[in-house]
Amino acid sequence: MNKLLYEGKAKKVYQAEKDNQVIIYYKDDATAFNGVKKAKIKNKGALNNKISSILFKKLKEKGIPNHFLKKLDDRSQLCQKVKIIKLEFIVRNIIAGSMAKRLKLKEGTVPDNTIFDICYKKDDLGDPLINDHHAVALNLCTYDELALMYDLTKQINTILQKAFLQEDIILVDFKIEFGKTADGTIILADEISPDTCRLWDKRTKEKLDKDRFRRDLGSIEEAYVEILNRIQ
Ligand code: UDP
Repeated sequence: MNKLLYEGKAKKVYQAEKDNQVIIYYKDDATAFNGVKKAKIKNKGALNNKISSILFKKLKEKGIPNHFLKKLDDRSQLCQKVKIIKLEFIVRNIIAGSMAKRLKLKEGTVPDNTIFDICYKKDDLGDPLINDHHAVALNLCTYDELALMYDLTKQINTILQKAFLQEDIILVDFKIEFGKTADGTIILADEISPDTCRLWDKRTKEKLDKDRFRRDLGSIEEAYVEILNRIQ
């Protein structure tokens, strides 16, 4: 039995055979509003494992260094072991979610520029929005590392936006995380799935992501299946 290294809200991380590798197992558990709303969504783990595997493979092919090595089975993947940098990088191509609420903007507004936010990954503080200087002062990373992560984030947005649009899906916003390997290299880690992106059907603007759970819109599994079917 592989040793459990970490259990998060949606995934478990086990030690793999090789010291510098881990097995990431995707659960069906869904949480929202900083863990206040909880449920199990049938097949979510398997769907997110498939979707994230496809997207990380694509990003690797396009030159984005990331932790993904291979999909092992329905719910798990083999990844490079990293130490997660406690920052969430959020990209907003269209205004929605917390930004719409905080600044009283209409959801669906298209800004003239792409918006990059960073949040401090700390559950007991509710993952607060911070700025570059805070991140450095909190010793989360250096200014040079921030510049590298912003640059990768921008490239990732361009690649994903294009890939989704080919399948008539609008990439409204998304969150990514980076990690450091044993030798200090920064690579993309965690997952990219309908749990971590807002994805709208181009024609109908129907929500095909976790907002169906957050906002009690129903047909959550169907929406995730739709995303998988279009991108695979
Ligand atoms: N997001 C995420 N995990 C988080 C916070 C945000 O995956 O802890 C994703 C979220 O699904 C959306 C984007 O990042 O695609 C922007 O989220 P937002 O700041 O609008 O917050 P939310 O509406 O999730 O509270």
